[in-house]
Amino acid sequence: METPHTLEPHPSPKHKMAFLFDWLVTLKCNYDCSYCGPGVNGYRPGHDNSLPHPEQETCEKMLEQGFRYVDMYMDIKKPNMRSLNLNIYGGEALFRKDIEYLLERSSKLYESYKGNWHLNRMLTTNASSSLDKWKNISEHLEYVNFSYHSQGPAKLQDNFMRNIEWSHENKKNYGAIVLMYPGEWEKCMYVFQLMQRKGYNVRPRIIDGPAGKYTKDQLRQIFDAMHEKDYSLLDGIEGKQIDSKMRACCGGRPLCINRNLKEPKKAIPRDSWMGWKCSANQFFLFADCHAKKFFTNKDCNVRHDGTWGPLADIDTMDDYIEQTRRRLKKTPNCFLTCVQKTCRCGTCAPKSLTDQGLADVMKSYNITA
Ligand code: SF4
Ligand code: SF4
Repeated sequence: METPHTLEPHPSPKHKMAFLFDWLVTLKCNYDCSYCGPGVNGYRPGHDNSLPHPEQETCEKMLEQGFRYVDMYMDIKKPNMRSLNLNIYGGEALFRKDIEYLLERSSKLYESYKGNWHLNRMLTTNASSSLDKWKNISEHLEYVNFSYHSQGPAKLQDNFMRNIEWSHENKKNYGAIVLMYPGEWEKCMYVFQLMQRKGYNVRPRIIDGPAGKYTKDQLRQIFDAMHEKDYSLLDGIEGKQIDSKMRACCGGRPLCINRNLKEPKKAIPRDSWMGWKCSANQFFLFADCHAKKFFTNKDCNVRHDGTWGPLADIDTMDDYIEQTRRRLKKTPNCFLTCVQKTCRCGTCAPKSLTDQGLADVMKSYNITA
C-alpha cells in the first residue's frame, strides 16, 4: 500500500460526515465490562459508579453552550452538510432518572437553530431498561446506537434483545454494534450472527485498549463481517493490541486514502497522525458534564494552538466561542495540527500532511474552503 498523505471518509450519502457533539451525562453504569476500565481513550474512565450524576443544570448549560458552538461551525458548511448528531451517552445515560427531561430540553433549545441545521439525537446505550421505559425514551430520539456487551448480566442482556427487537419491528432508526471481546469470542459471534439473521442493522466493533488482542482467525472473521477484503492489513498484528497497529472508523465509515475515492477501506494500517493537519475541530465537540469541560472529542484532546488539553470549561466556554468566531471569520480554513500520539475517535475527520491537501478535501464540506 502506498504511503498515506491524505485520509477522508468515503463521500457516500449513507456515510455523510455530520457534526458529532458527544454529551456525556453520567459515568454510572449497570454493567461492569472488564474492558471498560480505561475507557475509550485510556485516560477517562468508561464508567465509574462511585461518582454521582452531574447536576441537571450543568448538563443543560453545557448543552446550550455546545449548540451555540456548533451553530458557529454550521455557518461555514455547505447547506447539505449542516446536520448535527447529538450523541447522548455515559456510562449508561438511561441510568439518569431525568433523562426524559434532558431530552425534552434538547428539543426546546434546538428551536432557535431549526432554520440553520438539522438535529439528530442519538442515544448510545446498552438498552437494558424495561420495555415500557424503552418505548417512552424512543419517543424523544431520532436514532439509537445499540451496544451489545457480552459481559452484562443475563437478565439485562435479555432486555437488550427485547428492546432492539421492538425498535426494529417498529421501524425506528437505529444501528447496533457487538463489542467483539476476545475473552468471550463464541458468545459475541453467536449474538452478532443471530442479529444478522434477524435482519438487524448490526456490525462488529473491535475493542480498543489492552483487551483488544485477537488471534488471526478472529481478525479474519471480523474483516469478513466488515466486508473488508484487504487481508494484507492483518500481517503481523496477531496477538498485538490492535488499536496500536490499525484503525477502523468507530462509526463504521469506509475511509479513502490519498483521494482514491474508488477504493474505500474499512481498516487502515495506522494509529497516529502526529504532525498532520486535521479537521476534527470542524466535526466534533465533546462536553464532559462530570469534569465540566469541553474537548475536541471524547478521544482527541488536541487544541488550536498545538497544545493538548480541554478547549474550555463551563465558565470559559462563552469566551472561547467568541474567540473561535473571530478566528473563523479571519481564517475559515483553520485546522488542528495533531499532537496526539494515538488517534481513535477522530479517525474519520479529513486530514492531510499539508494545509493545502486538507483544504482541497474540505471543498466538499465547506462553502468557505
Ligand atoms: S456497558 Fe459500556 S459503559 Fe457500561 S461497563 Fe460496559 S462498556 Fe462500560
Ligand atoms: S488525534 Fe485529533 S487531531 Fe490528531 S488525527 Fe486524531 S482527531 Fe485529528
